Amino acid sequence: MAEENKSVRKKIQATEQMNRIMADYFYSLNEAGTSGGRQKIAWCTSVGPAELLRAMGFAVHFPENHAAMLGATRLATDLIPAANAIGYSPDICSYLTSDIGSYLKGVTPLAKAYPGIETVPRPDVLVYNTNQCRDVQDWFTWFAREFRVPAIGITSPKNVNDVTEAHIDDVARQIESLIPTLEEIAGTRLDMNRLRETVALSRECTELWKRVLETATASPAPLTFFDGTIHMGPAVVLRGTQEAVDYYRVLLAELEQRIAEGSGAVEGERFRFYWDGMPVWGRLRQHSELFSSLGANVLASTYCSSWIFPSFDGSDPIRSMAKAYLELFIVRSDAYKEQYIREMLTKFRIDGIIYHDAKTCPYNSNNRYGMPQRLEVETGIPALVIPGDLNDLRCVSDEQTKTNVEAFIEQLEEGN
Ligand code: SF4
Repeated sequence: MAEENKSVRKKIQATEQMNRIMADYFYSLNEAGTSGGRQKIAWCTSVGPAELLRAMGFAVHFPENHAAMLGATRLATDLIPAANAIGYSPDICSYLTSDIGSYLKGVTPLAKAYPGIETVPRPDVLVYNTNQCRDVQDWFTWFAREFRVPAIGITSPKNVNDVTEAHIDDVARQIESLIPTLEEIAGTRLDMNRLRETVALSRECTELWKRVLETATASPAPLTFFDGTIHMGPAVVLRGTQEAVDYYRVLLAELEQRIAEGSGAVEGERFRFYWDGMPVWGRLRQHSELFSSLGANVLASTYCSSWIFPSFDGSDPIRSMAKAYLELFIVRSDAYKEQYIREMLTKFRIDGIIYHDAKTCPYNSNNRYGMPQRLEVETGIPALVIPGDLNDLRCVSDEQTKTNVEAFIEQLEEGN
């Protein structure tokens, strides 16, 4: 048996500041939603053109962030059947089904977390980018029909090996074509200077977030993947704002201090793991404790790195947004993805890879076409596939996960 101890992950002090800026964000959204239309509201996909919406003065709600909260609070599993009952299959994205289910049932975790908020804000427009998957378009068009407002968006190339000028031209044109509709809804013209500033702030946010994640190259690593899934909140919902930039400066300073003190997030870090795929939101704490109790730190991931956009450039906002939102891992070919993961394994000195095979998200489950086996042969780094789901806990077997992780670590111990 792999040896278990009581080690748990160390608390990050900056969390309190993050909680404050996230609370301010949700209350300001609620204010927009209850202000009788004074500030217009846009719903945006998590890697959609948020900078454009923010620069035009919209309050921006991210349904995926809400869906992740439904998962983390374990409300999702009971809400999914309501969406199934109106024709949305249990096999499709459980963010979509839990978020639509939450609307149909009138339930939101925001109400408990933020007293005074009763519901997500009603949209004036929904803006998607299919760079991640088709489900977001289906999800947003359902709400567009429900609220009788437009759903507009970008249909992205997929399975891209090299991002070419032709790809960027295509997406940049699509971003530009959103502007007249958004101007009409916002009742104002797009101010290009404001867009430049917003994209520049997103760039600053992204650079700091990258540095935060790269602190985990240190041994012992000062943060874990599980911390990352929480602390990426501002990069998702507040990129393009000064608040997100200020927050990541504070978080980075704390993690750099940990490195200076030789203090790891997981006490007695013996193994360094890479996580590919979505988190299991309703099991973050259990998974964190499972790995740390065995001396393993899951310290880097494809998922948290997906909010690093190196191409944002305030001097060329629309084309740089097009490029940044095309270069994402999820948009790319398997050949690109494998090269990317190989680089991550070296950079973070990884001992093993965990692939989360999320039942309802094939787009973020990279284990289904032989990638773990190919990478294992090429790098000699062993892989473990954990079947589960991001939000639907009926697809998760805790016993099986525990047994498999223990056996995986035992195998690594024997190899040492
Ligand atoms: S990428 Fe996966 S989890 Fe995200 S919206 Fe699409 S199907 Fe859902």
